[in-house]
Amino acid sequence: MTKVWENEKLICIEEKDVQYIQFKKLLEYPEIKHCYTLRKNLNFPPIYKNEQLLKQSYRKICDCLNLDYTKVIKPHQTHTTNVEIVNEVKSLENVDGLLTNKAGLTLLTTSADCISLLLYDPIKKVIGSIHSGWRGTLAGMCKSTINKMIEGFNSNTEDIICCICPSIRKCCFEVDEDVKNVFYEKYKNLPEIKDIIIKDEIKEGKQKYKIDTVKINICLLKDLGLKEENIIDSNICTVCHSDKFHSYRVGKEASGRNAAIVSLN
Ligand SMILES: [Zn+2]
Repeated sequence: MTKVWENEKLICIEEKDVQYIQFKKLLEYPEIKHCYTLRKNLNFPPIYKNEQLLKQSYRKICDCLNLDYTKVIKPHQTHTTNVEIVNEVKSLENVDGLLTNKAGLTLLTTSADCISLLLYDPIKKVIGSIHSGWRGTLAGMCKSTINKMIEGFNSNTEDIICCICPSIRKCCFEVDEDVKNVFYEKYKNLPEIKDIIIKDEIKEGKQKYKIDTVKINICLLKDLGLKEENIIDSNICTVCHSDKFHSYRVGKEASGRNAAIVSLN
């Protein structure tokens, strides 16, 4: 196990030929294990695309984190706001978020530019792995998640820690007028809206915009009552760093997937 780099919030580890990052805030809790994977020798494709490669990747990363790869739960994600509380290994359709308070299960969602959130409530001992791409962010995925933690586990929002994994960022999330309009309509009342949506260049006669979906998630989480110091952003753009992370904007249909993993001991 070697440290590749670290900053004030993150540490990047290389182990058995694969790399992953960990949030220092979550490392304060020895009762959980977590990581967000890098692309080096790891890829978590949808099960129907390449089950063998997916299972191989489960084994590799579970080996590093000392987890049982047969206890991995990965839903078939379809950009919904459906969050499921899981108590056993099972297949899940149209689910984009997983929560549990059961020890021994490993929650895994995947992304390539979409936002992955890793959650932990250290008081109620609830963990979560969430996929919130731009469609999920538009539909308020983080709100569904926090509400589910309150309903299902009686979590207090001021206890919840939410880590925002590497994803596409404002620097690279360029959209046309139509996508800009739906985001504006939904989130125009956020005080930070002027920073969230900015007018960019005109390309081939079309006005382009850039949207900060990470900031939208941060605003929503704060509105829900999470403490600022409990919202930890990795600050890494997967498009700018597509040499290190799988990126859908860069790799298109052939792009692999990174995994956001968390498990309670
Ligand atoms: Zn970027």
